[in-house]
Amino acid sequence: MAIKYIPEPFRIKVVEPLRMLTREERETKIEEAKYNVFNLRGEDCYIDLLTDSGTNAMSQNQWGGLMVGDEAYAGANSYFKLVEAGKDIFNYGCIQPVHQGRAAEKVVFPILLEKGKYAISNMFFDTTRAHVELAGARAVDCVVEEAKDPITRAKFKGNMDVEKLEKLINELGPENVGLVVMTVTNNSAGGQPVSIKNMRETSEVCKKYNILLDIDSARFAENAYFIKRDEEGYADKSIKEIVRELFSYGDLFTMSAKKDGIVNMGGLIGVKDADTPLLLPIRANCISYEGFFTYGGLNGRDLEVLSIGLYESIDESYLAYRIGQMEYLAAKLDDAGIAYQSPVGGHGVFIDAKHMFPEIPYYEFPGQTLAIELYKEAGIRACDIGSYMLGNDPDTKKQLKSEFEFTRLAVPRRVYTQAHFDVVADALVAVKERARDIKRGYRITWEPPMLRHFQAHLAPAE
Ligand SMILES: *Cc1c(COP(=O)(O)O)cnc(C)c1O
Repeated sequence: MAIKYIPEPFRIKVVEPLRMLTREERETKIEEAKYNVFNLRGEDCYIDLLTDSGTNAMSQNQWGGLMVGDEAYAGANSYFKLVEAGKDIFNYGCIQPVHQGRAAEKVVFPILLEKGKYAISNMFFDTTRAHVELAGARAVDCVVEEAKDPITRAKFKGNMDVEKLEKLINELGPENVGLVVMTVTNNSAGGQPVSIKNMRETSEVCKKYNILLDIDSARFAENAYFIKRDEEGYADKSIKEIVRELFSYGDLFTMSAKKDGIVNMGGLIGVKDADTPLLLPIRANCISYEGFFTYGGLNGRDLEVLSIGLYESIDESYLAYRIGQMEYLAAKLDDAGIAYQSPVGGHGVFIDAKHMFPEIPYYEFPGQTLAIELYKEAGIRACDIGSYMLGNDPDTKKQLKSEFEFTRLAVPRRVYTQAHFDVVADALVAVKERARDIKRGYRITWEPPMLRHFQAHLAPAE
């Protein structure tokens, strides 16, 4: 273990007590939850790594910001402060708040997509894919091959396969491709970053065929940190300079601010061109679905704290500490021979559950099986990023086979300490020691038609 934990660049002022249930209680709870971790109560989870979305701890400046949030229905001060922060950090002409990432998708995608059209991404996040499909279009993933091999270390495993992208555009017909979506970092591939070079090359292809490039930018700051650390020519640039360059290659962005915005609720839409014809339809959809365009479904105080959080997220010492947490946990897994998407990404550690449980087939969901075992072992809540999450083919209704079977340990920002990571590592080692005896996974006993993993019921496969 060569990696040292980077001390928190903050100290703790408010605490939230945690409680560990007994093993017997945990076994009952997960059975009562129909083996779906989304059905567990938060208070029954000792370490909650279900998601890094909206689970962040705010700073004293943000808590202070709540008090000065302006609740005017139209034209609140907090709105203008957020728009200024967005314009400054991303260098985009139009900034529209919405209540979360999927709201940005719901507002923007129907303007650009319709039946018969395609959207191509390095990898679609689940709600992003759902909103492409709800707009009537089809979502196609186009990630580089190395992303699909968790064991092989490579830089920028989140990248778009640019050659394949151009081929796909020609096969589908450029007029049928409504949108290219670059997800930074690439969540579904394990929080893997996208390089500036890849972003530039993707934007060149989009320009050549006159297709808009949307940056799905929930983790823009973490991505910028990886560029600074790993991409040639960026070591001496500030995070803000890198963010601005990264975004200069896109035409618009849709953002869940619940991640790198370091808030509990919020989202943004940005359009680079200040005179964009998209502004009117975006505002019209926003008013219909979210609320008047100067609050976008958020409280004035939410707008205020987001404008602060965006700046805190591009602080380099914070990012070094944050990515350092992932590397600390990953180093412990290396010692134990536990495979994960490597090198670790920005917002969590994605355990290779196929490697842990080689005998469990994709249709019995190895990633979900490991999530259940971790809950039983130590009250840790994680989730499946694999075939269980991917779901069924929308045409044939058959179970799709995912490229990976991950169990995602997503790390909330500024919430857990080094000792919590030790508990997580010990639990994984304990599960690994009995993994040989776990030969069967889970089957679905009930599922809704879309985004099933949030609600489905499961039972042990027999
Ligand atoms: C979280 C996320 C979304 C959806 O955002 P919500 O705020 O959860 O609605 C979209 N894309 C990516 C890459 C995400 O990580």
